[in-house]
Amino acid sequence: PAPASGRVDLDGAPVAPLTICMIGAGGFIGSHLCEKLMAETPHTVLAVDVYCDKIRHLVDPAPPHLAGRISFHRLNIKNDSRLEGLIKMADLTINLAAICTPADYNTRPLDTIYSNFIDALPVVKYCSENSKRLIHFSTCEVYGKTVGSFLPKDHPLRKEPEFFVLTEDESPCIFGPIVKQRWSYACAKQLIERLIFAEGAENDLEFTIVRPFNWIGPRMDFIPGVDGPSEGVPRVLACFSNNLLRREPLKLVDGGEVQRTFLYIKDAIEAVVLMIENPARANGHIFNVGNPNNEVTVRELAEMMTEVYANVSGEPPLEEPVIDVSAQQFYGEGYDDSDKRIPSMTLINKQLGWNPKTPLKDLLETTLTYQHKTYKEAVKTQMSQASAS
Ligand code: NAD
Ligand code: UDP
Repeated sequence: PAPASGRVDLDGAPVAPLTICMIGAGGFIGSHLCEKLMAETPHTVLAVDVYCDKIRHLVDPAPPHLAGRISFHRLNIKNDSRLEGLIKMADLTINLAAICTPADYNTRPLDTIYSNFIDALPVVKYCSENSKRLIHFSTCEVYGKTVGSFLPKDHPLRKEPEFFVLTEDESPCIFGPIVKQRWSYACAKQLIERLIFAEGAENDLEFTIVRPFNWIGPRMDFIPGVDGPSEGVPRVLACFSNNLLRREPLKLVDGGEVQRTFLYIKDAIEAVVLMIENPARANGHIFNVGNPNNEVTVRELAEMMTEVYANVSGEPPLEEPVIDVSAQQFYGEGYDDSDKRIPSMTLINKQLGWNPKTPLKDLLETTLTYQHKTYKEAVKTQMSQASAS
């Protein structure tokens, strides 16, 4: 047996040090997971991505105390024969690689479908053929719209949890029509979930599927024109951060009426580490990972971020802090939206004893402090250069 790591699993058994092939390790979630694994566990990470900016502090070069525990492999899983070797070398593969920004789903539907389904196929195949465990990242978006959203606006049943709570093995997946290309992402993610589930049923693949519900925190996405394309549209946290940094109104798509639940990335990473270290409890399951206590409308999120940012930056809020835009203007043809996302926490609580901790206000304070410190000067410089040219 492998030497013990000093860590024990939820059943009191020692956790052996693992080698983990982490695909998409250079992204938002991957960077936090790498940090946590390096700081608190003895596991080794083979970090795979096309870029490493967000984990440069861990891999370029690895600091002496991490030598031999983390290595970066710059490769595109679309077309690189080194992938199978890395999966074979590891005990566990975690696949985070994806195009996962809504602005891409309706404007780059082919890339979205290829990235989320076709490009994930070899990962699943190599895990299955080599009898390696797989933790695959799906999304809460596979639930689509709630059953309640089809009832009239003031219908009393809309208040009943069974009409909106999203439960892994019970809730249906409800997407819009094909012309609403927003759903290309959810549909590709759903099909790869079904394929992984089928590999488990027919070929004994050991798998866990994660459905993140709006995990947010430092290092999420990019600030357009600073560390990403000026015309790029990131997810809502980075869009609103960008507006606040530039002192421009936050744009509410279609009135900002839809609801989301936001989970602090550091709480989320604890759930992932539990999955990594408790295979007997996690295998064969699909887990919602979210924070049902942190529900707001997008409008409320904008108001809260405006208030928190004023506190952390010392800059007074604008007189008109938000403006309405149509989805057509903001995202273009084919956009649609999920109305409400409350995760059932029953399964993850039962299997892994995990619960989210951080209230929305606290996580926004930490995150916006980071955004202000990291980006304010760069945004100022970029704005003055743009106005001079
Ligand atoms: P991210 O975009 O920050 O990270 C994805 C990483 O994958 C990027 O670093 C990217 O370079 C890499 N990648 C993409 N295609 C690749 C390829 N062909 N070869 C090699 N590397 C490639 O996104 P994230 O927020 O960290 O999300 C990670 C996963 O979690 C995704 O599968 C996403 O669908 C899922 N997810 C995240 C959230 C969330 O709240 N953050 C919500 C739902 C689902
Ligand atoms: N949104 C918005 N203004 C923005 C960016 C996003 O109103 O500048 C809305 C978007 O239409 C959606 C919600 O915020 O209703 C969350 O968007 P995000 O990109 O984070 O992804 P989603 O939760 O839809 O997957």
